[in-house]
Amino acid sequence: MTTAKEYSRIKLRLSLIGFGMTLIFLALVFVTGLSHLFIQWASLFSSNLFVWIPFYLLLLGIVEYVVDFPLHYYSSFYLEHRYQLSNQTLTAWLWRDLKQALIGFAFAIPLMEGFYFLLRYGSDYWWSFAALGWTLITMLLARILPTWIIPLFYRVKPLSNELLNQRLQQLCKQAEMPVRAIYELGLSRDTKKANAALVGWGISRRVLLGDTLVTQFSPEETAAVLAHELGHHHYRHIWKLVVVSALTGLFGFFLIDKVIALTIQHQFLISYDDLAGFPLIAFFITIFSFLMLPLQNGYSRRLERQADRFAIELTQDRTHFISSMEKLAEQNLSDKNPHPLVEFFFYDHPAIGKRIEMAKNDQLPNRPQPPAAEGCHRS
Ligand SMILES: [Zn+2]
Repeated sequence: MTTAKEYSRIKLRLSLIGFGMTLIFLALVFVTGLSHLFIQWASLFSSNLFVWIPFYLLLLGIVEYVVDFPLHYYSSFYLEHRYQLSNQTLTAWLWRDLKQALIGFAFAIPLMEGFYFLLRYGSDYWWSFAALGWTLITMLLARILPTWIIPLFYRVKPLSNELLNQRLQQLCKQAEMPVRAIYELGLSRDTKKANAALVGWGISRRVLLGDTLVTQFSPEETAAVLAHELGHHHYRHIWKLVVVSALTGLFGFFLIDKVIALTIQHQFLISYDDLAGFPLIAFFITIFSFLMLPLQNGYSRRLERQADRFAIELTQDRTHFISSMEKLAEQNLSDKNPHPLVEFFFYDHPAIGKRIEMAKNDQLPNRPQPPAAEGCHRS
């Protein structure tokens, strides 16, 4: 077995184990009465549900982190070093975890407050308001991701290689993308993996190229990667994904409504806004998200294929598209030909073997005409 296959298999197994452990954890927090105990503690300070929520989330978050730590450490620190993919020290890795936790907590509090506000006051149709709120939040997050959130984790600067910059800006012009929108993302401090993404919308929209990619790929290969990102921009993929997220949200919240009604009927919960029942709701959301994976990933793979075709059409260069894919697989230890079921469930990009096949064999569409507007997506 190749190293890439071995690494991918271990990672997949670990994420499946992680999924199972999350379910067991949530069930235990509810069944053992831990969830009720957190609320008892919170009620020592106040009798108000909306004061309990931050306290409850903090306790739940800490216990979850501790329980999950061994698997998290093994998967995200130990394995990455064993396969020589990471440059991070243990301190840097822990510091990143802390930052992620603090930011996650800052976002989770208003989300959870809003959710329970709707459960308490939002009438029988709370789930439709929740879906609307969810969609607006998705859009807001996509908007602030490049300017507010990514710089908290990585150094972001305009592309420093002037020759490469000129070559890439020419491509941007061809695809009707604002020319100042290429940035270099300082991934190399943490990882050896290469990545690129189109993120943001409106004035925050930009292409990010990992410095790990810029230094390892030839200018033609980098151009192929950029052209792929411009494909996402050209076909307005961000807005298509926002629509998918809105529909998923609507369906998901509707089902949550039914689940809560059922749990009240069977006396697991006292009322819709019974905070102690949150682990049950989270249990259901975890299963729902898992079952939605094939649909969401299938749609994402379709968009990625479209961006790949666009890239080859724009650059008229199949050779360097193929070599960029080979390099990406090698640098990131990606399994080029995973089992079809694994790809169907878990891959949001087509397997690299298929992307190469497409580049070799596909009849390409006509040269893209320049409409284009907003865009956001990862490579
Ligand atoms: Zn992409």
